[in-house]
Amino acid sequence: MKEFEVLSGNTGDTQAFAKRLATFLKPGDCITLEGDLGAGKTTFTKGLAVGLGVTRTVNSPTFTIIKEYHGNMPLYHMDVYRLEDSYEDLGFDEYFSGNGVTVVEWAHIIEEQLPSERLNIYLYHEGNDARKIILRPQGARYEQLCKEIFA
Ligand code: ADP
Ligand code: MG
Repeated sequence: MKEFEVLSGNTGDTQAFAKRLATFLKPGDCITLEGDLGAGKTTFTKGLAVGLGVTRTVNSPTFTIIKEYHGNMPLYHMDVYRLEDSYEDLGFDEYFSGNGVTVVEWAHIIEEQLPSERLNIYLYHEGNDARKIILRPQGARYEQLCKEIFA
């Protein structure tokens, strides 16, 4: 599987990359975010939201599982870390097939419920403020999207 790598030196780098990525997204797109606590998943989502024209501040949705924001299109921000049962269906399908972009932190927890085509993103601590961001597109749409972003 093809993968793409971005090195981030600080919070601003991560947000700037996410903001740029947002400009390539369209309704129905799904992005998964994986990485340890503090790796930058929510930070990445904040940048993505800015790129989608969301003016409200994005916060970690840990206690609500799903938060909805409105920019040029809806942004559905999920954090499924505290989901008690990975098969519990909170109506995820409606979000994935909806007219917005869905971002899922800790997505592997609901692996079986994720759309088969999606952009998987992994964030790794590289010491202090450095992070490695790996993109693994799944499906033709996201392979094309990555090619454009990294062209
Ligand atoms: P997660 O959602 O993965 O638990 P957060 O985004 O909530 O992580 O927290 C990441 C923390 O690390 C933030 O305080 C952020 O400012 C800090 N940070 C430092 N360097 C970076 C970087 N290069 N990219 C993203 N976040 C960074
Ligand atoms: Mg988070």
